[in-house]
Amino acid sequence: MEKKRIAVLTSGGDAPGMNACIRSVVRNGIAAGFEMVGVIRGYNGLIDNEMVSLDNRSVGNIINKGGTMLRTARCLEFKTEEGMNKALENIKKNNICGIVVIGGDGSFRGCRSLTERGVPAIGIPATIDNDLAFTDFTLGFDTAVNTVIEAVAKIRDTMASHERVSIIEVMGNRCGDIALYAGLCGGAEYIVLPERQWSVEALCEKLVHGRELGKASSIVITAEGGAKGTALAQEIKARTTMDPRVTVLGYIQRGGSPTASDILLASRFGMHAIKLVAKGIGGRCVGVKNGQLFDMDIIEACDMKKEINQELFEIAEILSR
Ligand code: ADP
Repeated sequence: MEKKRIAVLTSGGDAPGMNACIRSVVRNGIAAGFEMVGVIRGYNGLIDNEMVSLDNRSVGNIINKGGTMLRTARCLEFKTEEGMNKALENIKKNNICGIVVIGGDGSFRGCRSLTERGVPAIGIPATIDNDLAFTDFTLGFDTAVNTVIEAVAKIRDTMASHERVSIIEVMGNRCGDIALYAGLCGGAEYIVLPERQWSVEALCEKLVHGRELGKASSIVITAEGGAKGTALAQEIKARTTMDPRVTVLGYIQRGGSPTASDILLASRFGMHAIKLVAKGIGGRCVGVKNGQLFDMDIIEACDMKKEINQELFEIAEILSR
């Protein structure tokens, strides 16, 4: 009898840890007795029938690599009835009995559509933004925060030598988690988040006060969804005698080797997802809460509202004095 096959794909924005997760999905799937297939370029590969067989060796030497060996892309056609039907035809033709999707909330909605049409699909949260409320952490977030902290330390050297204010704009889309965690761990004087009220006046006051207290330099970390770095610099320049320097970290935050924490999470998520798909369960996503893995309905998960961690913000506030 022909072996049942499970497919794995990466979709939406790439994130460090996706490769480690593909490796875990493939090796756990094979250990559970399935044949494994990699789908190229997210949902596009299902529509275009672009798939590759994956064995244990195909996922060797990728554990520490950023990006995704399966490539990733957005796929508008998958949202149409015609696109979905093409995908379903190819899924049937390739004898695929379940799919693991590694991506963000957009990709999760695709999982739901597949499951509703009889193909069990499980979502694994992967995005540097950490913008999914149902899980404490998404794959790639820890790596991105560490990348930012490293950059902040380098920028701090120059700013302290020149006694300047530095504004560092970080990614996160509409979520302030990268700014919050990197701000706290990088010792920023001020953190601008989309989720919290803030004012230029209070920011300037804090910077001026910092000078009076003898601070050689000040670091302001702003989330891209909170305030743009260049606009912030202009506002500060107009209100004080300071002339801040702006760094927009950009895509450097998306790449690089995953941290141990992200590799661990990727490996655990992959195993949990295979356990579900192997039982024919779909329409769920895997997450981590207080260190424990769990799964829940994928649409309920997407609809949860993300809130900022107030405790962390308060700590950062006190430690920046
Ligand atoms: P992310 O997964 O990072 O949030 P997107 O929001 O761009 O990224 O979604 C990735 C892909 O998921 C889309 O290009 C599309 O193929 C698929 N997708 C998004 N929303 C839906 C939906 N409602 N139904 C089916 N597929 C969807």
